[in-house]
Amino acid sequence: MICLSSITLREISLPLKEPFRTADGVVDHRRVLLLEIHDKSGRSTWSECVAEATAGYSDETVDTCWRVISEQIAPGVIGRDFESPGEADAFLALEFPRARMARAAIEMGVWALGSLETNLSLAALLNSHARHPIVPRSHVAAGIAVGMQNDASALAERCRSAANEGYRRIKIKISPGRDVEYVGAVRNAVGIGISLSVDGNRSYSIERDDDLTALEALDDFDLSMIEQPLGDLESHSALQRRISTPVCLDESITSTSDVERMLQLDSARIVNLKPGRVGGFTESIAIHDLCQNSGVPVWCGGMNETGIGRAYNVALASLPHFTLPGDLSPSSRYWNEDIISEPWTMDRLGNIEVPLDNIGIGVEVNTALIERLTSREHTITEP
Ligand code: MG
Repeated sequence: MICLSSITLREISLPLKEPFRTADGVVDHRRVLLLEIHDKSGRSTWSECVAEATAGYSDETVDTCWRVISEQIAPGVIGRDFESPGEADAFLALEFPRARMARAAIEMGVWALGSLETNLSLAALLNSHARHPIVPRSHVAAGIAVGMQNDASALAERCRSAANEGYRRIKIKISPGRDVEYVGAVRNAVGIGISLSVDGNRSYSIERDDDLTALEALDDFDLSMIEQPLGDLESHSALQRRISTPVCLDESITSTSDVERMLQLDSARIVNLKPGRVGGFTESIAIHDLCQNSGVPVWCGGMNETGIGRAYNVALASLPHFTLPGDLSPSSRYWNEDIISEPWTMDRLGNIEVPLDNIGIGVEVNTALIERLTSREHTITEP
């Protein structure tokens, strides 16, 4: 039984080590909404809302999530008894169907409290809820997402050094006009031995001949996948019929019903699963199980999370059907100083260790640093 007693929202601003450019724009620091969640048994955890400062990837932003959590979700869940994290999810999904990133920050926090309550690591707890549970993996494979660079040779250089660092998969951001030449230069630089993929973040249109020609030309580079070049399931279905490279969906998948429709239409053959995008872990596990049943590979995407958000992603990626490397870079990829005491690290083989010996989120939070970085703070308790 879990009953929340208070939720503190904090906004921090954390400078990125290098600006990150995608088809949606450039970010050079991350405004992050963190939650500190307490329950009536005296347990507490941190969680992270993955919404970005501006709308683009999603309609939800740091500001909209701040408002909906503080004015609606927190007052709605505090003092309410939940038998399990799944029951909390059912309540949140019913009451706040569209606020997926906002409610995921609470729902995933409830799973972390569930880990403390059951004395199981978060990875073991999530695995015990999968349709075909396994002993969770001790390591997950890390891939890197490389933002757009000024020109093809700068991008190729950046990717070559990522390959040397040990990453198991390299993903580059593309947009119309920054694609075929760039991908060719990167493939030349990294060789054919490494998994390479591209992400268009919905910047292409099936209506534009030049866009289609470019996407078809990408078949020549032995890519593992082309991620979300277009806007909807129908247009991806038309594209998948014309190319041999598997399409992977990100933005278009917000629930299991989206995956069902994707399968019906053959819109894509791989799913990028981000728990914040689908409302949290309960829906993530359901999507994972559905993809496993349908033979569709799944990997864990990233939203430039801090070490707190990464802890949740690493636990999720320990599920059996996360068969491809995720966007799970070590802390040093993004931050000069992460907000956890021991930064996430990657070994030379491109693996990140799952903290199976720890309960809760499995990492120690640097509260003094968070305190220093906090620009606003608000606590909601039971009236
Ligand atoms: Mg993506």
